[in-house]
Amino acid sequence: MADPKGFMTTPREEWPRRPVEERVRDWDEVYVPGALLPIISKQADRCMDCGIPFCHDVCPLGNLIPEWNDLVAREDWRAAADRLHATNNFPEFTGRLCPAPCEAGCVLAINQPAVTIKNVECAIADRAWEEGFTPPRPPDRLSGRTVAVIGSGPTGLAAAQQLTRAGHTVAVYERDDRVGGLLRYGIPSFKMEKRHLERRLEQMRAEGTRFRTSTRVGRDVAADELRTRYDAVVIATGATAWRELPVPGRELAGIHQAMEYLPLSNRVGEGDLVVSPLCAAGKHVVIVGGGDTGADCLGTAVRDGAASVTQLDIYAQPGADRDEDAEPWPTYPKIYRLSAAHEEARDLVTAPAADADARLFAASTLRFTGDGSGHVRSLHLVEVDAGRRPLPGTGRTLPADLVLLALGFSGPDRTDGLVDQLGLAMHARGTIARDAGFATNVPGVFAAGDAARGQSLIVWAIAEGRAVAAAVDRYLTGSSRLPAPISAYDRPMAV
Ligand SMILES: Cc1cc2nc3c(=O)[nH]c(=O)nc-3n(C[C@H](O)[C@H](O)[C@H](O)COP(=O)(O)OP(=O)(O)OC[C@H]3O[C@@H](n4cnc5c(N)ncnc54)[C@H](O)[C@@H]3O)c2cc1C
Ligand code: SF4
Repeated sequence: MADPKGFMTTPREEWPRRPVEERVRDWDEVYVPGALLPIISKQADRCMDCGIPFCHDVCPLGNLIPEWNDLVAREDWRAAADRLHATNNFPEFTGRLCPAPCEAGCVLAINQPAVTIKNVECAIADRAWEEGFTPPRPPDRLSGRTVAVIGSGPTGLAAAQQLTRAGHTVAVYERDDRVGGLLRYGIPSFKMEKRHLERRLEQMRAEGTRFRTSTRVGRDVAADELRTRYDAVVIATGATAWRELPVPGRELAGIHQAMEYLPLSNRVGEGDLVVSPLCAAGKHVVIVGGGDTGADCLGTAVRDGAASVTQLDIYAQPGADRDEDAEPWPTYPKIYRLSAAHEEARDLVTAPAADADARLFAASTLRFTGDGSGHVRSLHLVEVDAGRRPLPGTGRTLPADLVLLALGFSGPDRTDGLVDQLGLAMHARGTIARDAGFATNVPGVFAAGDAARGQSLIVWAIAEGRAVAAAVDRYLTGSSRLPAPISAYDRPMAV
C-alpha cells in the first residue's frame, strides 16, 4: 500500500456516467470517456492491504485484488496488467459488467464505502490494451490433441483461450452468425461496446483458436460426430431456455421475450438491420421481471424512444442498507440499487404511473387484454405480499403496447438435439449434470458455464471456462498446470 492512510484521506469516487440527456441519444457506453484514469490511482490507494483480503476470496476468479491495487497506486501498470491477467482472461468484460461481489466483501465496506475494485480492474485492462501489454500468446508447441468447444459465450471463450495457450488445437462451434454469446446479442452496447469483444477475438484468432459460426451442433453437425472427430468436447451452450408467463392474454401480439427483443436491437448496432422490428419507439412498454435482463430492456426501450416504460418486480422494494442478520458482510446483499438504466428512467420520468425510477415492486401480472385486432393494449396487475398472495384492492391497469418478459432462464435449449444425441444426464431443474471436475456422464465430454451451473454471471462464466480447461487438459495429458479457480460445485458466498 503506497499510502497507509489512503482509506482515511480519500473518499470513494466512481467512474462518472455521462449526463442522462446525452447518453440516451446514443448506444455508446454510459461512462465519461477518459474520466477514470485521472482518479484511479488514488482510489486504488484506498485499499488497506488487509491480512485476509475477503475481496479476493469472494471473487470467483480469485482476482489478486490487493496486489493490483498496490501496483496501480504506484502506477506500475505493466505489473498490474500481468497480475490481473494471471487470473482473468477478459478483465475488460468484468470491469464493465460484473456486479462486483468483491466490493460487498471489501473489509473497508464494513463501515465505509468499499474500494472501487471493479473500476480499478477496468482501468488496468484498458491501459493494458492501450500500452500493448496484452499481445497474443500462442503456444510454444502443439500437443497434437484436439478439443471442440460448443458455444462462444464467456465460458466457451475462456475455455478455448486457456486450452489453445496450453497447446491444444481448439475449434469453437457457435450457432449464431457471430461469436460472443450473450456478450454479443444479449448485453446492450451501452453496458459494454462490442469493440472490446472484437479485440479479444482478434487476439484469440492470432493465438490459433478457430471459430465455426452459424453451426448449430445437434443439427448442422451431429454431436456424436464431434465426439469422434475431437479428443475432448466442452459444452458451453449457456442457459437460453427462457421462462414463460402463463396468464390469460399471453398469446396476444406485442408480447415478447426479452431475448427476442435485445438481440434485434444488438443487430441494429451490428449494422444487420436499420430498425428493429420490435423497436419500442412511441410505445407504452411494460417489462415483466425485476432483474438485470429487465434493466437492459429498460435502457434499450428508453433509447428506442418509448412513450413510457415500466418495469415490474415481484419482490418488495429492498432496503437501502444491508440487513446484517439475513445477509451479513461479506456476502452480496440484496439492496436497492440504481443501475444506469434506472437512473435514465428516473431522470426522464418515463413511467409516470410507477415509482420514481420506473420500477413497480411487489407487482404480479394477472392478465393481458388487447384491442380488436389481437394486439396487447393493457396489462392488469395486483400487489402481492411476501408469500405472493394478492393484496385486496390493489389491482391496477397499465397501458401496454409492447410487453417484454424477463423472467429468467431454466437451462440449455434442448431443441437442437445435442443433449439427446450425446445421451447427457440432466438435473431435474434443466441443467446438464456433471461431477466436481466438470465431466458429464459421457466420457470425454465436459460441461461448463450457464448450461450446467444455471443462469449466472460473466465472472462465474470465465471462472468455469478456466476451470473446465484445466480439467480437459488433465484428461488429455494426465496432468495440468492450468489454474482451476473453482470446482463445479462451488457457489457464491452465502449465509
Ligand atoms: C440480457 C442479459 C444481460 C446480462 N447482463 C449481465 C451483466 O451485466 N453482468 C453479468 O455478470 N452477467 C450478465 N448476464 C449473465 C451472463 O451474460 C451469463 O451468465 C453468461 O453470458 C453465461 O456465459 P455462457 O458462455 O455460459 O453462455 P452464453 O453467453 O449464453 O453463451 C452460450 C453460447 O452457446 C451458443 N449455443 C447454444 N447452443 C448451441 C449449439 N447447439 N451449437 C452451437 N452453439 C450453441 C449460443 O448461441 C451462445 O452463443 C446477462 C444475461 C442476460 C440474458
Ligand atoms: S471480476 Fe467481479 S468480483 Fe472479481 S474483482 Fe472483478 S469486479 Fe470484483
